[in-house]
Amino acid sequence: MPWHPLRRRRIRRYLPAAARDTVTKSVHNGAMQARTYLRVSLFAALIVIALKLLAWKVTGSVGFLSDAMESIVNVAAAAFALFIVRIAEAPPDADHPYGHTKAEYFSSGLEGLLIGVAAVLILIEAGQRLTHPEPIGAVPLGAAISALATIINLGVALWMLRGAKRLRSIVIEADARHIMTDVWTSVGVIIGVLLVPVTGWLWLDPVIGIVVALHILREAFSLVKRSVDGLMDKSMSDADLADLQAILDRFRSSDMRFDHVRTRVAGTRRFVSMHLHMPGQWTLQRAANCRYAVEKALIDAHPGMSVTIEILTASQESLQEENGNGHVGQTAADCPN
Ligand SMILES: [Zn+2]
Repeated sequence: MPWHPLRRRRIRRYLPAAARDTVTKSVHNGAMQARTYLRVSLFAALIVIALKLLAWKVTGSVGFLSDAMESIVNVAAAAFALFIVRIAEAPPDADHPYGHTKAEYFSSGLEGLLIGVAAVLILIEAGQRLTHPEPIGAVPLGAAISALATIINLGVALWMLRGAKRLRSIVIEADARHIMTDVWTSVGVIIGVLLVPVTGWLWLDPVIGIVVALHILREAFSLVKRSVDGLMDKSMSDADLADLQAILDRFRSSDMRFDHVRTRVAGTRRFVSMHLHMPGQWTLQRAANCRYAVEKALIDAHPGMSVTIEILTASQESLQEENGNGHVGQTAADCPN
């Protein structure tokens, strides 16, 4: 998707002044390079899957089958990540004034369900093999093919980890770490399958398949959980919350207090809203200056964060926060029509 000048104006209109330039620049350049990394990882993963499926075909090993399945999971992850970066970077528009970052949760939820199904299929296959053991053949050839696939994976993962550090991209880092776990799984599977002809333990192969399948199931569970957390408007992490409070502490005084601080995370975007209470006799200009200073400090610390600050007097609360808290009886008589 080209970065159209019209869309650039759109994002500028919706963002507070301080965040505009940071966001437009970093979203633009970062996303372009992130996509290059993700595309390469996708291409490498296709080769890796082909090799691992070949290793399964020549040996008939359930262990190699489960390893190939895990790589398919990684391809799905990389493809979804590519898709997410595209959708999520689209600036807010009239239909989606808060942006499109929640797109991530559709894909991680769907991916979680799909890999969960894959894991169950491996478990069934391995279970059948446990009850009806079958010898596996051509183990050295299969192990060599699988080792080649693993070396490719390792190279890609290390290259992406370096890129993730340079671009400070969580998406690339997550993808690289995912591939890295795939490498460790493969090493375990190769060693296990090599042991089968040496020891004559036919049960070892399906057991390896079951261990890998359980690992994939855990992955599926955490993906689905992430989606649910996101769709349920989970707050920022404890570390980020502590950081937020530390920034607010710089502004707290006998005159100014914050309350009803609420945060939520939508994909890569963070939203925070709060009350800022101050003496009623302060001028609107002074109040606006204070509000601006707090907003700027928050956005400087978290570029792209969406900040909503409601200004209130020291004694007045907003009606929606005050349900059942006594102040609701206050009249609005002072406000001219
Ligand atoms: Zn309040």
